[in-house]
Amino acid sequence: MKVDFLLIGQGLAGTVLSYRLISQGKSVLLIDTPRENSSSRVAAGLYNPITGRKMVKTWQADILFKEIEPFYSHLEKLLTSRFLYPTPIYRPFLSIEDQNEWMGKSADPQYRDYLGEIHTQSKIEEVNDPYGGILLNHSGYLDIGSLLDKYGIWLLEAGRLRQELYEEDKLTLFEGGLTYKDVEAKAIVYANGNQAKNSRFFSFLPFSPVRGEILTIRQGLDSNCIINRGVFRIELPDGTKKLGATYDRIDLEAGETEKGKKELLEKLANLINLPVDKILKHQVGIRPATRDRKPFLGKHPHHNQVYIFNGLGAKGVSLAPYFSKEMSDLLLKNRELQKEVNINRFFKYI
Ligand SMILES: Cc1cc2nc3c(=O)[nH]c(=O)nc-3n(C[C@H](O)[C@H](O)[C@H](O)COP(=O)(O)OP(=O)(O)OC[C@H]3O[C@@H](n4cnc5c(N)ncnc54)[C@H](O)[C@@H]3O)c2cc1C
Repeated sequence: MKVDFLLIGQGLAGTVLSYRLISQGKSVLLIDTPRENSSSRVAAGLYNPITGRKMVKTWQADILFKEIEPFYSHLEKLLTSRFLYPTPIYRPFLSIEDQNEWMGKSADPQYRDYLGEIHTQSKIEEVNDPYGGILLNHSGYLDIGSLLDKYGIWLLEAGRLRQELYEEDKLTLFEGGLTYKDVEAKAIVYANGNQAKNSRFFSFLPFSPVRGEILTIRQGLDSNCIINRGVFRIELPDGTKKLGATYDRIDLEAGETEKGKKELLEKLANLINLPVDKILKHQVGIRPATRDRKPFLGKHPHHNQVYIFNGLGAKGVSLAPYFSKEMSDLLLKNRELQKEVNINRFFKYI
């Protein structure tokens, strides 16, 4: 079998990048072992332009957020399914000072487009929001699991996906291309999340994986928005709620923990004055995060046919549409990547 690109991984990164390449007439083959606890399958899929403890505009928001809705709606059309749920985020104010600060921000042209209604009094009875809160725009969530399932079927039917383990020792490079078992390709792209650190090509990259736990619960309030302060609570179409997420860089092997569950439920109790009726699911995954919190894109320094598209960290949904475009421009037009994401920033470690 001959293809232009061999991609390792059909998580969010491999899915989005392969679609970019196929849309530009290129042939691809993906190799992936689907895992229930892969980062993409566990993720809540939230995209949120204003993040962090200080609630500032997320890195490159003005560029990234323009791509999100058009890109995923193309995939929705292709697969005749819904994956993207644009939904405002309601963020209750912590204090009068917090309220004042947001009032100030809403007048700032840098923020105006991302900020919706400001409430100076409680907006939702069951929410602990005595100082009111703010609605954020250009936010929502992607049902990543359904996207991966539907896109995976589409690839399988076209003979573009093999659900098996990729074994690097079966790869042979030659001038201008490579072979892998019966496959001949012009280039290979490692879009296999955290596993890329075990590759002989990319073990030099400073991955800094982050374990995260997430709950699916039943709870009485339906507010038509994502409620977010310290913890996010997403309302799913079936009426259940996703509650997330914890961050742990130290104990990566811990799995689902009572501590993680307790942390999420305590944060929820601070936010919403209603009991949790039932915990339906408790999941854990490891985010493919990086030491400098920027993605890993680029070409191996010694092998012209070996590439990586990785390091999407905690924000894959918002990073993937734009950076898959930069990546496909590198693969197809040899266009230079922006330096903050280019892996050549780490070539000194080789
Ligand atoms: C608890 C939690 C909550 C999160 N919430 C959000 C959120 O709300 N919003 C957001 O944007 N992001 C969120 N994320 C992060 C998000 O999951 C990632 O940014 C993104 O999904 C990473 O995708 P990926 O394809 O790079 O990696 P992965 O999802 O890890 O996919 C890699 C794929 O490669 C396959 N693979 C690896 N090695 C091999 C091999 N040798 N052979 C074959 N296949 C292989 C794996 O099985 C997997 O299918 C969350 C993550 C966690 C853990």
